[in-house]
Amino acid sequence: MMKLVIDLLQEHNLFYNLFENSRIGQVFLDIQNHPVYVNRRMYEFFDLIPDLMADMQFGQVFHCSNFGRICAECSENGNDRCDLMHSIRIIQNGGSIDNNTIQFSFKHGDREEIKWFQLNGSYIIYEEKEYLLLIFADITDLKQRENRLKELLSLDLATGTTNKYGLMKLVQERIKEGNNLWYSLCMIDFDNFKQLNDLYGHLFGDKVLEKFSDIAHRHIRKGDVLGRYGGEEFVFIFDNIDEKQSFQILKCIHMELTKYFARTTKLPVTFSAGIVTINSRFQAVSYRKLLGQADCLLYEAKKLGRSRAMSHQGEMIFMEGN
Ligand code: GH3
Ligand code: MG
Ligand code: MG
Repeated sequence: MMKLVIDLLQEHNLFYNLFENSRIGQVFLDIQNHPVYVNRRMYEFFDLIPDLMADMQFGQVFHCSNFGRICAECSENGNDRCDLMHSIRIIQNGGSIDNNTIQFSFKHGDREEIKWFQLNGSYIIYEEKEYLLLIFADITDLKQRENRLKELLSLDLATGTTNKYGLMKLVQERIKEGNNLWYSLCMIDFDNFKQLNDLYGHLFGDKVLEKFSDIAHRHIRKGDVLGRYGGEEFVFIFDNIDEKQSFQILKCIHMELTKYFARTTKLPVTFSAGIVTINSRFQAVSYRKLLGQADCLLYEAKKLGRSRAMSHQGEMIFMEGN
């Protein structure tokens, strides 16, 4: 263990035992950032060996390269993006840190482990010497549960697609990026779905939507979006793809779906689409306007006879003879 400069933390006394057996990580630093005392839990959190820290600065012990960052305090190539060093600087100036969430990434060979800590910190004067107290609580479990809940909140549970809320966020993110991105947004609506429900029942209709989601997910790339906009209306977002390429993907999905149900139903299972491409010539100004455009094109596709896609370039037919 480190040489202790604080009387209260002498080995085997009550305070020492309280610190050592605490479930939170606790660190005392001197004002130059050198660890004066670090409890056992802190080493466990950061997977470190205690003896390594003699005479080193905090950032060098709890090494920033472990976190994928380099700090001004422990390296010449410093930058100001380190949340931890930023917090330490606030405390050095007499401030305090209340419940800051800090994320760390630990590399174990090829594997990366993300941990989240809630950091509290304060400035202490004891026997005319200045100290910084840092308290780390491991909130990784809570954060993982929160992330999972967020994912579930964005999911349409019946079809496993992104729900309307999630879809809105993803479109808005792209609109915010502005000029740097190009992508196609396709709104699709199943044809004569009411009639299909009337003929074969709503459970059958539900099965069609599930199968559609299943097939579509096999045809889109990682990073593409499939969201459920409404009942039997879905939206695809294909990054770096234009109207024609989008149509080809939709056509493959359409073909596989129609084929799958061809022997089950008299009425063919088909859908129509409206495709809008966002590029340097055509920028989306808002989520509502973009979806509105796609909806107008979809309406035209319906009017022209269904089972087809409409874009600003004109109509493209999925299947002849419906
Ligand atoms: P159109 O070709 O003009 O789109 O005709 P449509 O009958 O599909 O008309 P519309 O899109 O307006 O109607 C959608 C129908 O889809 C009405 C609704 O009962 C049915 N529907 C919506 N959501 C679901 C669902 O989750 N499951 C089932 N089984 N049916 C649904
Ligand atoms: Mg419909
Ligand atoms: Mg509809």
